[in-house]
Amino acid sequence: LRNFTENPNQLNRKFPNPEAKVDPFSRKQKIAQHRKSLPIASVEKRLVDEVRKNDTLIIVGETGSGKTTQLPQFLFNAGFCRDGRTIGITQPRRVAAVTVAKRVAEECDVQLGQRVGYSIRFDDTTSGSTRIKYMTDGLLLREALLDPYLSKYSVIIVDEAHERTVHTDVLLGLLKNVQKARSKTSNDRLNIENKRTNDRTLLDKDNEDQAMSFLKQCQGSKFPPLKLVIMSASLDARGFSEYFGGAKAVHIQGRQFPVDIFYTHYAEPDYLDAALITIFQIHLEEGPGDILVFLTGQEEIESVERLIKERLQQLPEGRQNLLTALIFSALPSEKQMRVFAPAPTGFRKVILATNIAETSVTIPGIKYVVDPGFVKARSYDPLKGMESLIIVPTSKSQALQRSGRAGREGPGKCFRLYPEGEFEKLEDSTKPEIKRCNLSNVILQLKALGVDDILGFDFMEKPSRASIVKSLEQLYLLGALTDECKLSNPVGHQMARLPLDPIYAKALILASQFNCLEEMLITVAMLSVESIFFTPREKLEEARTATKCFSSPDGDHLTMINVYRASNEFLEKKTVGLSKEKSEKILRKWCKDNFINSRSLRHARDIHGQIQGHVEQMGLCVASCGDDMLQFRRCLAASFFINAALKQPEGTFRALASGQVVQIHPSSVLFQAKPECIIFNELVQTNHKYIRNITRIDYLWLSELAPQYYCMQN
Ligand code: ADP
Ligand code: MG
Repeated sequence: LRNFTENPNQLNRKFPNPEAKVDPFSRKQKIAQHRKSLPIASVEKRLVDEVRKNDTLIIVGETGSGKTTQLPQFLFNAGFCRDGRTIGITQPRRVAAVTVAKRVAEECDVQLGQRVGYSIRFDDTTSGSTRIKYMTDGLLLREALLDPYLSKYSVIIVDEAHERTVHTDVLLGLLKNVQKARSKTSNDRLNIENKRTNDRTLLDKDNEDQAMSFLKQCQGSKFPPLKLVIMSASLDARGFSEYFGGAKAVHIQGRQFPVDIFYTHYAEPDYLDAALITIFQIHLEEGPGDILVFLTGQEEIESVERLIKERLQQLPEGRQNLLTALIFSALPSEKQMRVFAPAPTGFRKVILATNIAETSVTIPGIKYVVDPGFVKARSYDPLKGMESLIIVPTSKSQALQRSGRAGREGPGKCFRLYPEGEFEKLEDSTKPEIKRCNLSNVILQLKALGVDDILGFDFMEKPSRASIVKSLEQLYLLGALTDECKLSNPVGHQMARLPLDPIYAKALILASQFNCLEEMLITVAMLSVESIFFTPREKLEEARTATKCFSSPDGDHLTMINVYRASNEFLEKKTVGLSKEKSEKILRKWCKDNFINSRSLRHARDIHGQIQGHVEQMGLCVASCGDDMLQFRRCLAASFFINAALKQPEGTFRALASGQVVQIHPSSVLFQAKPECIIFNELVQTNHKYIRNITRIDYLWLSELAPQYYCMQN
């Protein structure tokens, strides 16, 4: 067992607990009571009033105070959708959009997809009657392509703005423009606003009437003005306020019980192992209450889940009362709700989560938090033009948010799996993503929105000139931009229409010319999910043998196609006439036998269907190259030429574009073979620079298929 040192002084803020007991009423009544007890409930009138008065409002409130679930309902009830328009709420994460929409639909006692719905990439549950729409920030950016005035929205709430994802940042700039375009300069509006300011004690009914008359008076302009609400869990609202010309900020007083913070005496060499030990230490020695563990991604989460289950079996029977629940972005949406379900009496729940659970979703019942102190983050080197995912220490504010999750409903404990001295060395807050990611995707979208001067765009925080230039260069090399840096026709426009990374969008367009779009669709779908194979450390050999039948000597892309097609074949043969549930169960068993991650496979199948819809709509020809895999590999080379690498004498590889020395990840089917020339899709940086998803190519193809790049560089 680990020894922890205690620092009881952090987060020891005490608030009264008005939420003490909830009687065992029916679920509906319980929910109603829960809603009333939220900190935000007592300021409903004031918030609605502030939104009426201010075109842009910033709301800061502690996680769990009810911002995300309640504010849209307040605004709906106050008549903000009376003219048939919608309240849109953006989330940086898919999971949050989905789980919150489900919860709010339940709170409103409506079917999901009716008044309340969500829309995320590859999954849209909204209908014509949806008025409260949760979506990802990226999705709203896409909607702007089709509807530049975002005319169907009366209010847009940008939630979790403190996360500063690249999409949130671009969206803020865009919304500023849309708001300007939609706002009327007429004095009428100013007059009504003044009237409203003078009359602060309005009943709900009056509120509604006022909203109606307000909207009527705005009908002179094409669209009524767009209301913007920026919500954030971080206390510093200044940045947002300044960016929006001194917009008003309001604070919601949260409720936080004291949380005792514990640190390890020494640095932990293996944080997963340390997390596992801590989980069991809590389970065996501490009082009741659920445990929330922060891990960096799906693979870690699934591996810790397996290890917990194995170790549980070694405990005496009476102590096996521990249940696992997972939450990460690729988790199918019907499984995500499990984290919210209370554990059965006598059981303790341990939730294994990514940083989703920091502020995006509030999970009830947590008393213990285990924080190894790491997070997976994007990182971008504009000089090398290389984006990678790296595991980095959290910031101080992330660590504080994490520990705060233990004190939502009562006093809690947080176990930080690093020595106390390390905490002081952490960055205060996380650097906005726009400063550390490849911008090709957003630049392509901005161009498609008619924003041509990217360097002049009003970003809240400007990305470096070098990274803008590098991304423009990349888009040019992919054929999306013309010599004048304008969106090319048709390729650039087609690429912008596909909800994919530009490099994948281009691969699909090229594949239709190479007659292998069927293969490329599968590839792109499989590349869009986290690891398709699952290779538990303790069953490495067994897994290798089982997955051998799928391996292609050409590389991982063909191997993925083999898996996908084998699953198709299996479904066609074994599940004829069976119900959907039965078929899925059989497929899960097949996945398990073959060491395939059934969640990832299902997700990939889903994505495949949707991208196929897009390319068919665009009129691309979905054909297969049959057995001519050379054709497909040439298409891969033509698509991913930017990520080509050559073998070095000592067995490592040199990435041609960046000159970096990289290694083939052990999970690749080419790990042993090490061909002379390869293309790859992903660079993961841990102790080594690993490349993943690799296919063998002929290096002469590069200058033949990508002369715009390789001839230029000789
Ligand atoms: P905020 O956005 O201010 O962080 P939320 O509106 O997300 O707060 O959450 C308010 C409350 O609703 C929290 O107490 C949380 O536990 C509860 N809640 C949110 N989603 C669910 C859910 N799916 N199931 C049960 N409770 C939920
Ligand atoms: Mg929230």
